[in-house]
Amino acid sequence: MCTPMLLVHGGAGSISDARVPGKLRGMKIALKAGLPLLMPSYEFGGVQAGSALDAVVAAVRTMEEDESFNAGYGACLNSDGNVELEASIMEGSKLRAGCVTLLHDIKYPISVARCVMERTNHTFLGGISAQKFALEHGAIQLPEGTLVTESARNALENFKQQQAEGKDTTYSPTELDESVKDRPGEPGTVGAVAIDAKGNIAVATSTGGITGKVPGRIGDTPLLGCGTYADNQLGGVSTTGHGETIMRFNLAQKILANIRYCNMSAQEATVTACNEMTERLGGTGGAITIGTKGDIGIAWTSKRMAWAYVRDNEFIHGIDHGNILKEPF
Ligand code: ASP
Repeated sequence: MCTPMLLVHGGAGSISDARVPGKLRGMKIALKAGLPLLMPSYEFGGVQAGSALDAVVAAVRTMEEDESFNAGYGACLNSDGNVELEASIMEGSKLRAGCVTLLHDIKYPISVARCVMERTNHTFLGGISAQKFALEHGAIQLPEGTLVTESARNALENFKQQQAEGKDTTYSPTELDESVKDRPGEPGTVGAVAIDAKGNIAVATSTGGITGKVPGRIGDTPLLGCGTYADNQLGGVSTTGHGETIMRFNLAQKILANIRYCNMSAQEATVTACNEMTERLGGTGGAITIGTKGDIGIAWTSKRMAWAYVRDNEFIHGIDHGNILKEPF
């Protein structure tokens, strides 16, 4: 029997101070939604095992509803001012996975990803077909533009202004000594990793991508091995940060490779892979990891990354390097 663990993140990048309280609140809500589904419950005289898969979906759905995060409501806008949503989910017992991209005005992309995993023979659906599939399987089609927030609009305006001023908006630093270069004013992808009492590991990640992206741009979040990966024999990882960097580095897989081939702990593996990624590619990002014994890894090379979990009824969280905060859950 494993001790169940649910670990969440609310995105990496140049998170402004004004965004911090909303992110912390949002992650607490996510844990409150996910943990009851993860813990074994004693009902009707028998033990109901918790489910890592149900827990990560519930946690991510609450963050998709919350404008403090770059997922669902509050997602980043593409250069046309539209939201294009992406999500992926994976479970580590049979390595089943579901991924979706380029969804418009859909309320819970992570549930669509789960539907792809559970109700199709495919792993990844994108664009018009993904939208059609989502609607046929009970997804909520919102009136056009419902997910667009004022702050996302401001971030796009800011982005376009910077472009017009000839500033570097590629977010892809080429100089290694410029490595700690983050995206301005973006609210952050969301992710959840869980292990249940049976040792099943599940991971869910959801995003709006990056502000000002070219319509049709696909990032790391819906890609297995980049944004998401789960394997009961190794661990589970959800990542966030500069997608073009993370996907070229295969960040989630690199972390699991460190566990597998270098015998590293979840923490060592996560730190080592994030640092190597930024050293080699320049772009920044972060990840949360759970190993097969429920050990955790949290690391990032971005300026900030929001993360949280609960242990012994304490809400343990952080956003700044070297700063771990605790309060009653
Ligand atoms: N990784 C996401 C992307 O590039 C963005 C983020 O994590 O904030 O699409």
